[in-house]
Formats: sequence, C-alpha cells, structure tokens
Amino acid sequence: MTTSAQLFEKACRHIPGGVNSPVRAFKGLERPPVFMERAQGAYLFDVEGKRYVDYVGSWGPMITGHADPEVLGAVRERLDNGLSFGTPTAIETSMADLICEMIPSIEMVRMVNSGTEATMSAIRLARGYTGRDKIVKFEGNYHGHSDSLLVKAGSGALTHGEPSSPGVPAALAEHTVTLPYNDPEAVEACFEEIGDRVACIIVEPVAGNMNCIPPQPGFLETLRRVCDRHESVLIFDEVMTGFRVAMGGAQAHYGVQPDLTCLGKIVGGGMPVGAFGGRRGIMENISPLGPIYQAGTLAGNPLAMAAGIALLEKLRAPGFHDALAQRVETLCHGLQERADAAGIDMITQRAGGMFGVFFTGQSRVDNFAQATACNGDAFRRFFAAMLEHGVYMAPSAFEAGFMSSAHAPEDIQLTLDAAEAAFATLHEA
Ligand code: PMP
Repeated sequence: MTTSAQLFEKACRHIPGGVNSPVRAFKGLERPPVFMERAQGAYLFDVEGKRYVDYVGSWGPMITGHADPEVLGAVRERLDNGLSFGTPTAIETSMADLICEMIPSIEMVRMVNSGTEATMSAIRLARGYTGRDKIVKFEGNYHGHSDSLLVKAGSGALTHGEPSSPGVPAALAEHTVTLPYNDPEAVEACFEEIGDRVACIIVEPVAGNMNCIPPQPGFLETLRRVCDRHESVLIFDEVMTGFRVAMGGAQAHYGVQPDLTCLGKIVGGGMPVGAFGGRRGIMENISPLGPIYQAGTLAGNPLAMAAGIALLEKLRAPGFHDALAQRVETLCHGLQERADAAGIDMITQRAGGMFGVFFTGQSRVDNFAQATACNGDAFRRFFAAMLEHGVYMAPSAFEAGFMSSAHAPEDIQLTLDAAEAAFATLHEA
C-alpha cells in the first residue's frame, strides 16, 4: 500500500511544496498532508483506506455532501456532448437566470473560473465604473490571490505568515487600503478622509478566512451607508457565504444589499467556477456592452454549469438552510459542552452552514488581531487528535469549517466523541 507520506515525498519533486494550493500542505502541523482517494457524502477516504468525517467539504462547495448523485448525474448526462465549445450555450442562460432569481441584488452576472477571477474582475469593474483607483478591504479577509487583493489577506496567506506577498508591486498595493474588520468607526474615518477617491469596498460579509467571524450588528450597514454617500461600489465577496449562510447568501441573512456580489465554490458544484454580478447599470459596462475588459476561454463551461445548476436546485428543498444551520448549532453546542467539561479555553462562532473553533479565553472574536492572538499550539494538537480519530477539520486555525446536509446525527456524535478525546490530550504536557 502506498502511504500519504510516500505520495507527498513524490509530489514534492515536481510540485512546489507538493501541493497545488498552499493550505493543503499542512505546513506547521509537523506531519505530511493526507492524500485522499475518494469521497462520499460526509466522508473522505484516504489512500490508506481510512475514513474521515469531513468538515472541509472541498473548502465549501460540497454543501450536500461529496459525490452527490444528482450533481454527478447532471455532469454525466452532458459529458458525451463534448467538454467545451467556446460558443454560447443555453445552459449558461439557465445558470444566469437561476443566480439572479436566488440573489435578487444580482441583475446581471458573468461566469468565470474561480473565486479569484470573480473578485479581480469585480474590482476592475468598480474601478472602471467609478474612474477611481483606491479600494478598501479588511484585515484578514481573503479575496483570492490577485495583486490588488493580496494585501493583509487571510487564509493560506495568513497561515504562512505572508499577509502580503513578494511580487505584488508596491505601486499597486498602495491603492489598497486595509481596515480592521467589524470596526465601523475606522470605515467612517477612512471615508471622511479619502471617500471620494474610493472605487469600492470589498468585504467578506461573514469572514471565513481568519476562522469564522460574523459581522457585528451595524458593520455591514455602515459599509452600505458610506458607499452610498461617496458613490463608491459596495462589493460582497460571497464566494464562501453564497448559498451557504442562507439561500440568498449573507446579504439575505443580514439584510444588506451590495452593488456587486462575487460567487464561487457552491455555484460550481465542485467544478472550477466563479461568478460576479450585480446592478445592471454597473454590469453593462463590461465588454462587449461597455469598455471594461473581462473574458475567459472556458468561462461558462457546460459541464461546470450543469454541476452548479444541479447543486443549486437541490438547495431549494424546503427548510434546507434551516436544517443545515441546526446541524452546525448541534455541533457547536456539543463542542462547547465538552471543552467546558475538560476545562479548555475554547469558543465557537457560526453563521448558517459555516462555523469556527477558537482556542481563546475571550467570549468573542471579532477581528484579525483577536483571531491571531488565539492559542495556535492548542489548535495544532486538537487538529492532530481529531485527524487521528477520523475527523478531518481544516488544517489551519484561520479557516472556517463547513457543514453539509449529508452529515447525519451519528457523524456529529462521532465528531463530539473525537473532540472529547482530543480535549483530554490538550492537558498533556
Ligand atoms: N473569496 C473568498 C471569500 C474565498 O474564501 C476564496 C477562496 N477560499 C476566494 C475568494 C478565492 O477563490 P478561489 O480559490 O476559487 O480562487
């Protein structure tokens, strides 16, 4: 049998760090990453045949579980027609109609191949539309790896201690203003000073790349107000939260409407897909209708559209998101009870189908500074023990956890039993 360790060694020969996305490498966790062979429902199965209850869900898309038969069926049905035509196809219109129906602030939408492309394109559109260069983002929010947005970012950039990356021109980063998350006064003060030069604010309406940090009441409303006052574009990056926090995304959950929305993950059903859309008056400035250029050889790929549509249709089942949130609540309460019983300083935070576990004595974590002040060593030991007990959590303290509708009560129970055992190990020296 080939082990994960052997595969990792081989992978490192021709792939930088052995991975095609940094967070997969388990850097700082003192063990090689686990190589997976297949996945089904709530489970991942590694190359050594071990089963894990999975709370990563391919980093978000697998909201109905892995290898969903209806999603796979939709892809299979189209497969023999060919993989890509580079022409318009009717299924792209079906996808656009569905997105606009499910997220009413989106009146027009463009499909792309990743979340990174979605945010990068939305930023260009906001800059082109307003004729301004400056953008405002928040510390610890991650919007993909395009130059303008890789400044004080979260996710893998945070885990590896590189909040900004070499290779991002200083002249470009200079146009990116980074403010603390959940701090309306900082936003007001910034706009007081430079508001009329700000093209857009881009925000994760629930931060999921510095663990899971919901917006404090009034934060998103402040963003809406200052953007209206200064004619800046408000962009919600709902790559993670879209169709997960609620059917209509975080904007439906918190009742604040952005001008533009970025989507990814669930919208592609596990295929490489992103999208950005919003107000017609802004979207009409994109090529070929307007002068702002954006394009993609494989954008709107028919197999990817088929997977995404099949998944989105499943989320219409009555009560889907309430049931998902209920599962998250059960998990979080169970974890809290066991941590308290074991005398471990730990709290959980959640929003709809996503959650976070913080090793801290604080009662809440609202921003990047507080997230990075949590006990990293406790997280690493917790992660290792959970993995040992067959529970696959995100291999970083700065990523949100994702629930799926395939997680049955017995999977959650297994997770809580594993956590109880894991918490016991945290007291050992
Ligand atoms: N925005 C957010 C909020 C994300 O969580 C991510 C990826 N985790 C991205 C953008 C980038 O998406 P992708 O990895 O598909 O480029």
